[in-house]
Amino acid sequence: MALESINPATDELMETFDEWSAEQTAEVIDEVDAAFQQWRLTSFEKRRELMNRAAGVLRENKDEYARIMALEMGKPINDGRGEVEKCAWVCEYYAEQAEKILADEPIESDGSKSYVGFRPIGTVLAVMPWNFPFWQVFRFAAPALMAGNTGVLKHSSNVPRSALAIEEVFVKAGFPPNVFRTLMIGSRKVDAVIENDLIKAVTLTGSDIAGRKVAAKAGEMLKKTVMELGGSDPFIVLEDADLEESAQVAAKARCINSGQSCIAAKRFIVVDAVYEAWTEKFKAALTSLKVGDPLAEETQVGPQARRDLMEELHEQVEKSVRMGARVLLGGSPQEGKGSFYPPTLLADLKPGMPAYDEELFGPVASLIRVADAEEAVAVANASAFGLGGCVWTADSARGEEIAARIEAGAVFVNGMVKSDPRLPFGGVKISGYGRELSHYGIKEFVNIQTVWVR
Ligand code: NDP
Repeated sequence: MALESINPATDELMETFDEWSAEQTAEVIDEVDAAFQQWRLTSFEKRRELMNRAAGVLRENKDEYARIMALEMGKPINDGRGEVEKCAWVCEYYAEQAEKILADEPIESDGSKSYVGFRPIGTVLAVMPWNFPFWQVFRFAAPALMAGNTGVLKHSSNVPRSALAIEEVFVKAGFPPNVFRTLMIGSRKVDAVIENDLIKAVTLTGSDIAGRKVAAKAGEMLKKTVMELGGSDPFIVLEDADLEESAQVAAKARCINSGQSCIAAKRFIVVDAVYEAWTEKFKAALTSLKVGDPLAEETQVGPQARRDLMEELHEQVEKSVRMGARVLLGGSPQEGKGSFYPPTLLADLKPGMPAYDEELFGPVASLIRVADAEEAVAVANASAFGLGGCVWTADSARGEEIAARIEAGAVFVNGMVKSDPRLPFGGVKISGYGRELSHYGIKEFVNIQTVWVR
């Protein structure tokens, strides 16, 4: 099987890459483990210097990397530049913070001295998705490498150019060879990698389906996992919300990355008192978004990353409509070349409909009318997912009370859910477990070692 780089805006096959054999893959993992034996001994000062250089390499090549993403998975070019900037930020954050976060923690006990040390664990496998091809990888790699681990990346099969470009960032920054490697393999070869004794842990970002498979295999091998899976984030609008601002943010939050984000707002839960007025504003905001060529500066919504994913999205919309949902905007793929799906707004949603129950990974917004805040919380929690959510109200104390009752890894009051190197990121329920980013993220893949001295 070959890995293919296809331009989703034109359907053009740009490049194919031969998939590696099992032997080739195992050889590279051997090399990465050999690199680990040295890398684990490097000082924080050395790691900091290199990670800061990686940030520099990212910034220097921002346009090129944004172009790779635009061509390979349709990300609007401006968003791509923003993504590369954010990768530089996470490198700098961990370059700066890792030593402090991983400093020994003294604990009083019956010994003359006892403390906790945070030791590297070895090579971590990262199974990553195509939607933020750079960011998802760097938010794993920056803390992992700063902690003294080494990493191997199995990227989505549709973003091989991004995968190779990321490996190159570390080479250009001057990291020792093989501290971070890309494995050019498809998903069928992942089990063998997890079985390899030199792989100590696995992190996966992607669908819950992939997560279950990879977590099961890692469980069989007794290897630690972090799972960052899908979401169906609620966006709650209460009667005292700023309607104009929340509607504008809602359109952005739904259509970020052309709707293909795990933390995109997906279910818009609006109280009856403001439902009609808010829906009008939301629809207008969605309508104003510019759909088009991802290489054009003004584009806000590009094509869907793969044709099969767009078709799947459309099936979810059609099935919901057959079950009684009403299309207020959009609702079918754009004619012509490329997998373009326009911003779409669905109303009259009921439990049982895909647009109510499932994750819609594209620019399709599900509107749900509720009587009051109580019902809004109940509907928000009536989901198998629990990644993020936000609540809009003039009373932020009330917003915080509601936040505490929402079953999600992150709740934002009067703002859209976003990731930030300083804040932990991850989910509950089928959105996964474990946390990335912040001090929590870097401690996922370390040996938390107790040292006791008589
Ligand atoms: P997948 O979850 O299938 O892919 C994510 C990563 O997991 C890829 O590297 C993929 O490799 C790998 N993978 C998939 N199945 C297995 C397996 N059985 N064993 C090992 N690795 C595996 O996402 P898709 O690209 O198919 O997208 C499908 C849906 O997933 C989307 O519509 C969306 O709902 C959700 N998704 C969520 C994301 C998030 O950020 N949480 C990101 C991307 C998708 P390969 O590409 O080789 O199959």
